[in-house]
Amino acid sequence: MNLYISNPLCLLHDNGNDHPETAERITRIQDQLISAQMFDWFHHKESRAANNDEIALAHHPRLIEHIENSLPKEGVVEISEDVNLCPDSMSAARYAVGAVLDGIDAVHNDNYKRVFCSVRPPGHHAEYDEAQGFCLFNNVAIGAAYAIEKLGYERVAIIDFDVHHGNGTESFVRKQPKAWFASSFEHPLYPFTDPKSDINNMVKIPLEKYSNGEVFRQAWSEQGLPGLVAFKPELILISAGFDAHALDPLANLQLHENDFAWITSEIGKIADKYCHGKIVSVLEGGYDLGAVSVSAREHIRTLFELD
Ligand SMILES: [Zn+2]
Repeated sequence: MNLYISNPLCLLHDNGNDHPETAERITRIQDQLISAQMFDWFHHKESRAANNDEIALAHHPRLIEHIENSLPKEGVVEISEDVNLCPDSMSAARYAVGAVLDGIDAVHNDNYKRVFCSVRPPGHHAEYDEAQGFCLFNNVAIGAAYAIEKLGYERVAIIDFDVHHGNGTESFVRKQPKAWFASSFEHPLYPFTDPKSDINNMVKIPLEKYSNGEVFRQAWSEQGLPGLVAFKPELILISAGFDAHALDPLANLQLHENDFAWITSEIGKIADKYCHGKIVSVLEGGYDLGAVSVSAREHIRTLFELD
């Protein structure tokens, strides 16, 4: 059985007017699942709130304190470039992290095989001691740290197909040899990380502007997926961003929803072979409301094997 985790409190994080990272991203994904008559074919859960000790598995306590202390009483404040806070942002972020921890518990306890966490704010740009790029805390990195440090996993893979490189996740795996990270991203583009893969537990797959699905599939087939097989993961986490879609306003790759279904299927086959199918997938970016909702729907359809 499969599990969809979200929380209405994740909708309360507000970046202010005319910002692409909106609550509607999550409601539109849910609407797509309902209108495709998929929503009754998996279980649903409201996430718990992660506590400070859990967030500190992948962040300096100073960052948690800084965000708590910066919350406005009303309205929206910008605490750094591309990071905004409203009064409910900390609460939304705690439930986003909590969803990933709940998802990992769910597959660890063999209650579920596949989990999708429909949460925001996203996470993969958040560094150890700094919120960045619409991200407050690194949901996936905290999840990996939780699996390794609290549940005893020795090999946790993180696959990231968001159009932006997960710089925060890279920083995390540089200090955590039990985690392995593969990421495709448009290059050059924010956050402008070095495209070289210079450590054993990281594969970077830079893709040129306007690369299409064929290029994406070939790159993953040659670079990312063989590395995942060689790693023999015990658990796979996905940073599922859908902003590499051709319609996305923030980037220039030319993927379509079937490309997201393809990579999901490939990851699923490897998960079935090495880790009893266990995958926890977590929403990252995706800013065209139509494209992100349809892409997430196809990702979930494949992840949950609903065909
Ligand atoms: Zn992104």
